[in-house]
Amino acid sequence: AKAAGGNEVRFFQPEMLAEVEQRFALQQAICQALEQQQFCLFYQPKLTNTGLVVGAEALIRWQHPERGMIAPAYFIPLAEESGQIEAIGRWVLQQACLQLQQWQSDALCQNLNIAVNISVRQFYQPDFVELLAGLVQHYRINPAKLTLELTESLVLTDLDDAVHRMQQIKALGLRFAMDDFGTGYSSLSYLSRLPFDEVKIDQHFVRQSDDGQKTRDWAIVEAIIGIANTFGMALVAEGVETEAQRQLLHTSGCHCFQGYLFAKPQAVADFEHWLHQRQL
Ligand code: C2E
Ligand code: CA
Ligand code: CA
Ligand code: CA
Repeated sequence: AKAAGGNEVRFFQPEMLAEVEQRFALQQAICQALEQQQFCLFYQPKLTNTGLVVGAEALIRWQHPERGMIAPAYFIPLAEESGQIEAIGRWVLQQACLQLQQWQSDALCQNLNIAVNISVRQFYQPDFVELLAGLVQHYRINPAKLTLELTESLVLTDLDDAVHRMQQIKALGLRFAMDDFGTGYSSLSYLSRLPFDEVKIDQHFVRQSDDGQKTRDWAIVEAIIGIANTFGMALVAEGVETEAQRQLLHTSGCHCFQGYLFAKPQAVADFEHWLHQRQL
C-alpha cells in the first residue's frame, strides 16, 4: 500500500487489505503460471528499409486458463517487485535460446536475431553472466544472434557496475540494445560509456510525426539519430504505425523499424507463417 501524501497519518484501510490480498493472489498465480507453462513468447519483426527482416523482439504473454491472454504490463511490474522476474526472465531467455536453436536449421529463419527484454533486477542477479554463458553453450547458439534489450534505468544504481557487467556479457558475444531511449533519466554522457550495439527510439517520439509533418519534438528524434550515428550504434524505431512515420524516419536517417505497420507481435507459428508469406 502506498503512503499518503503530506503529513496526514493514515491508518490501515479495508481497501488496502484488498490490495494486499490482490497482489498476493497475483503472485501466487504467477508461480502457478511458471509451473504450468502458461507463459509464451510472441515475436514482432524488426525490418530494414528494403523490407528485409533482420530479427524479432520476443514479448512475453500470459495465457491464463480462465482470464485469457494477459499483457506484460499487468504482471511484469509486480514480478519485478516480488523478485519473480528472475524466474520469469530465466524462462524467457531459455525459451529464446531454444527458438534460436530451432531456427538454425530453418532456411527462412536462420539469419534472424532474437531480442529479449531484460529487467534491471535480472541484469544485476549475481549469476546472470553464468546463466547466459550456460545457455549459449547448452543450446549451441551463435551468441551474436541474441540481443538483450535494457532500459536506461540500469545506470541508476551504479554506472561502473553496469559497464563492467555489460562488458562481461559482450565478451560472450551477445549484443545490447538500449530500449525506450529518450524516455528515462539517462544523459548522453554515459551512453558513450555503455557498450550498446543498438538504440531503440521509443514509440512516444515516433508518434511525434503523425501526419508526416515534423513537430517540435521531432528534433529529439533527429538528435537521437545523430547520437547513435556518432557512437556507431544501430538504430531501430519502435511503434511505427503509419507509412508517413516510416517515411519521415527514413528521411531523418533511421532505416530499421518495428511496429504494427509491418506486423503485430505473434505466436511463433503465426510469425513463421507471416515470414513465409512475404517470401512468396
Ligand atoms: P517494450 O519492450 O517497449 O515493447 C514494445 C511494446 O510496444 C510491446 O508491448 C509491443 O507489443 C508494443 N508495440 C509494438 N509495435 C507497436 C505499435 O506499432 N503500436 C503500439 N501502440 N504498440 C506497439 P507489450 O508486448 O505489451 O510489452 C510491454 C512491455 O512489457 C515491453 O515494452 C517490455 O518493457 C515489457 N516486456 C515484455 N516482455 C517482457 C519480458 O519477457 N521480460 C521483461 N522483463 N519485460 C517484458
Ligand atoms: Ca523492448
Ligand atoms: Ca521499447
Ligand atoms: Ca516500453
